This record gives sequence, structure tokens and C-alpha cells, in this order.
Amino acid sequence: MKFVPRGLGGAADNSKGGKEGWRSRLKGILSAVIILSVLYLVLGFVADMSANLVPEETESEWFAWVDDVLLADAQAPPPELQAVLDKLITGSDLRPFDYRLCVLVDPTPNAFALPGGTITVTTGLLDMVKSDIGRAMVIGHELGHLEYRHGLKRLGRSLLLAVGMSMVGLDSNALLKQSSFLAEMKHSRSQEEESDSFGLNLVYSKYGTTEGAFEFFEEVHLLQGADEASLIESVQSWAHTHPLTENRLTNLKRQAIELAR
Ligand SMILES: [Zn+2]
Repeated sequence: MKFVPRGLGGAADNSKGGKEGWRSRLKGILSAVIILSVLYLVLGFVADMSANLVPEETESEWFAWVDDVLLADAQAPPPELQAVLDKLITGSDLRPFDYRLCVLVDPTPNAFALPGGTITVTTGLLDMVKSDIGRAMVIGHELGHLEYRHGLKRLGRSLLLAVGMSMVGLDSNALLKQSSFLAEMKHSRSQEEESDSFGLNLVYSKYGTTEGAFEFFEEVHLLQGADEASLIESVQSWAHTHPLTENRLTNLKRQAIELAR
């Protein structure tokens, strides 16, 4: 068969409509941007929803490496802290994680929960919060983050990729290690309030009172009024992980009054 080159038809002739050509190209680019943006938002929403569907066992497998990273610099938890965790989880209807404590030698008061059930507390926080119930509130708050899958939700769209990799039998640990969530353990204001409320309910159900539960929060408020730069720095570091909200303590106190009724 002989090849007959096709002549330039009217459609390809842009000589008279340069402006129109640009317009349609711009339209195309805009449509693509809009479609991709919508897809990005939808994927974010789907990732958030699917965090609750990941089996606890899978979450624990994904984050088993976290302990290796943390335990290298960790101290054994003091028995009184372990007793607080045991009291909170025993007989409670929590997610079936292997809950464990990790104490980091760090003067900065802080606590955070890592997916899979590891609750990390710094020595700075332990020095600051002396009572069992005060510590129970801190641990209860972190258990709230685990219960609501806040850590998993922080993975965002990477979570979907991890789920996909697991489904086809690929190891997603490398992907999760690379994600920046460990370095940026920051929860949203609503996640903090959700975990506060969860923690306080749990403390009340186990201790029968909320008296003294706000020790840590009150200490932080005191620190905020301090002039020493180092103290303020400590609070800022804590506030990065746990955004302070003006009425966080007020909300907790209101809930405490309702619980006592
Ligand atoms: Zn928190």
C-alpha cells in the first residue's frame, strides 16, 4: 500500500486563530489542574476514612521498626508509670494493640503515641507530673490518639500506597520509614480535643474522679508565664506536638464537672 501523506486540514491551521489556540490550550491546562486537584482532595478524604479500616495487627506490623528506633535511646519505664498504663488498659474496651511505654531521656516535657501502640514519654514530663492521676491523664490522652488512629491519619495519601503495597504482598516499611510523620508528629486542634475528651473519660472510669488530672496542663500554663527562655522553649516544643488551644483546659474542666454529676 502506498503511503499518502495527509495534508494539513483546517483543524490544524492555527494561522488565523493564534489567540483561539492559546485559549483552548489554557482551557486544557486549567481542566487538568482542576481534575488533579479534585482527585488529590478525594484521595486525602479516602485516606482519612481508610485509616479506621486498617486492622490493628497490620498497623502493628507496619510500625514494628519504630521500637527499634526508639528503644536505642530509651529507658525502662518506672514501675509507677507502667502501673498507670496497666490500670488504664485493663478491662477497657480499647483497640487490641500491644500497648507499651518508652521513656526518652530528654528534659523537654513531651509525650506522643506512635501507630502500633508505643506511647513515648520524656523524663522532662515525668519530672513535671508527679501524681498518678496526672500521669494517667497524659497517657489517657495518648491512648485517645491511638484509638482514633490519629497517627495513621497523619500519613495521609501515603497510607493508601501502604495499603496497596500490603495487598499485593510488598513490604511497605521502607515507605513508612521515609514518610516524615515521625519528625512532624503534629496533630490538629480537633484531634487534640478529641483525645483530651477520650483521656478524661478513661481516667474518670478508672479513678472515679478527675481531681488532679490536669496537673500537666496546669504546669504548662505556669510555664507559659515564666520569663526564662529555656522554659518557654520547652513549652514551644511541647506545643508543636500538641497545639495549645486557648480553651483546651476550660473544655476539660467543663467535661470534668459533667462527669462528676
Ligand atoms: Zn496530643
